[in-house]
Amino acid sequence: MDSNSNRRGRLHGKVALITGAAGNLGGEIVRAYLREEAVVIFSGRTRSKLEAAREAALADTGAEPAMADVVVIDGADPASARDGIAAIIQRHGRLDIVINNAGTTGPRQPLTKVPLTPEDLAELQAAGSIDTETLAQSARNILGVVWNVMRAAAPHLQEGASVINVSTIFSRTEYYGRTAYVVPKAALNALSRQMSDELGARGVRVNTLFPGPTRSARIRSVFATMDQLQGAAAGTTADKFFDQMTLERSVEGEPRAKTFPLPKDMAHTMVFLGSDESAAFNGHNFEVTHGMKVRQESRSTWVSRPTLRTVDASGQTAIVIAGDQVEDAVAIARMQVEAGADVIVGLSRETGCNEARDLVAAACLSSRIKVRVCDRMDGASLASALRPWHDVDDDEDSPAGSNHVRGPITGAIVLPAYGPGRFRGPVLAASDADMEAFVDEELHATIAIAQALTRYWINCPDLAHEPRFVFLTNGSDGEGNAWANCMRSAIEELIRVWRDESDVDRKLGRCRFPEWGNQIIRYDNTEPENLPFAAGQAARLLFTERHIKQVNLYLPVSIVEATGARRSMLGFTENLTGLHTAKVALITGGSAGIGGSVARLLALGGAKVVLAARRQSELEAIRDRIVGELADIGYSGAER
Ligand code: NAP
Repeated sequence: MDSNSNRRGRLHGKVALITGAAGNLGGEIVRAYLREEAVVIFSGRTRSKLEAAREAALADTGAEPAMADVVVIDGADPASARDGIAAIIQRHGRLDIVINNAGTTGPRQPLTKVPLTPEDLAELQAAGSIDTETLAQSARNILGVVWNVMRAAAPHLQEGASVINVSTIFSRTEYYGRTAYVVPKAALNALSRQMSDELGARGVRVNTLFPGPTRSARIRSVFATMDQLQGAAAGTTADKFFDQMTLERSVEGEPRAKTFPLPKDMAHTMVFLGSDESAAFNGHNFEVTHGMKVRQESRSTWVSRPTLRTVDASGQTAIVIAGDQVEDAVAIARMQVEAGADVIVGLSRETGCNEARDLVAAACLSSRIKVRVCDRMDGASLASALRPWHDVDDDEDSPAGSNHVRGPITGAIVLPAYGPGRFRGPVLAASDADMEAFVDEELHATIAIAQALTRYWINCPDLAHEPRFVFLTNGSDGEGNAWANCMRSAIEELIRVWRDESDVDRKLGRCRFPEWGNQIIRYDNTEPENLPFAAGQAARLLFTERHIKQVNLYLPVSIVEATGARRSMLGFTENLTGLHTAKVALITGGSAGIGGSVARLLALGGAKVVLAARRQSELEAIRDRIVGELADIGYSGAER
């Protein structure tokens, strides 16, 4: 007897759920799994497609019919996911492998045209688009589908089970005209990593597959659309990705060359990941890309404190778009005023706006900070928040000092929809309501804000220079920041695509200025300086010429250790630093009043200060105060 015929399949005895089983990759995966003797559950939304895929796979592999079952699941619907998983457990008694392969392509539109509403979609279709989904639908069919299936499946997965989430390498690259696809996939990357923490603790491994551009009719049509949208020669997009590959390979009898990986390459990796051979892997990325050089994350960490000394935003208008974080939004706005800008603060609800107006009035800044409702779920409200400063629709007229000329908005700072208390904790324990709210009010709404901003800037006739945007995360949620990390990943990809699309559009003359932005990550740092530090850095990003290529800019875990300064010291005092270094000043009557103030300012300027007065105790007290302040802002050897 042939020794091979005795070989047990690598997946023998395992029950594997494969979503999107009737699709391109799905078809390849189910065959590989049947050949390796798994019991395969074919899943997707359309029963007829699944039945046909099952018949074809059984015929091709010669597997027993009992080895292939069909369970219809619309993964975008939490109830359907729960029903489907319950049916699998009822029929098969167990679930060993989950391959979250299902996912749609999302609308193939640049950020400016991504359809947010059914009406937007109908308009695109009337103009000849083949798109079939709004942004909300694609977010559910790409991110929601995995999250729902996993929330339903997790309680049934036993030690040794394996989950493989299918992302795309393009969730970490520029990908023109595909925001609605790659941004939810980028959120999935972080979600998948988080699931590996949550499930790994009980012996279930979760890994992420990153297919590269896989040889299929789908990828050819995707790249052809991209070439067209960019006004580029046919093949430009494919060549760009070939350039990133390090492996030349001969496939299907063709000469060795840079080429697309094959669906069976994905399937082979899935077999390994489903089998016990991969028992030691958890939370890893498996990139099947012919060695495309793509970074995990585009990131850097601030190592110096922000200085506003060279920032002059006078005459410029910024907008801070927040949700319910009234105090943060006002503090950030005040920092932009410190830099010279006038600021519109947009908050989700009128109650928050009223609180913000009180804070602004208490700081005597009503002439510099205007507060408006900005409901990020409502396109009209978003557009309205961006209207000119002196709009007649504003309830309160700007008081004194308001008649100086204000230009269009040139800088935008965008915060999440909610403060850190709203979405937190284990992602697999999320309720339906929380998951849906997160997908809509954070993910979808962030893309909607980006669209509103880019449309505003493209259509702004009096824009005089390059506009900038900065996304700011919340501070720590105290529970590991899993949800915030999903948005961090999504926004990183949004920024990457936005920058690229804007650059292409400028080259094609579709806009006058390229739009540029970064994301500031605050949640790793829990120091009191967190917010002023981040707000000061945001001002520098908005109002100086610097282009920091890394998308994500993290606050250091310890600002003191990274920068040597305990406080950010922004405002007029920072202009004094270094002004009087190497000078020595003697101040008589220096223990209080004017003498004391002069001593402090000279010391802040770097002078060595000698205080003279009659009472030793008062002299020592003021000396201690000044020395403490100098140490706070990072002067070394302050006691000297
Ligand atoms: P495909 O041929 O379009 O198949 C996708 C499948 O997903 C369809 O069979 C569809 O089934 C199912 N699906 C969509 N929405 C669903 C939902 N809400 N619930 C359940 N099933 C749903 O796609 P593919 O090219 O094989 O891609 C498979 C996966 O690989 C996707 O996640 C894709 O993003 C990823 N990927 C592909 C490539 C590539 O080059 N092909 C590259 C990178 C990543 P129904 O029609 O029955 O609903």
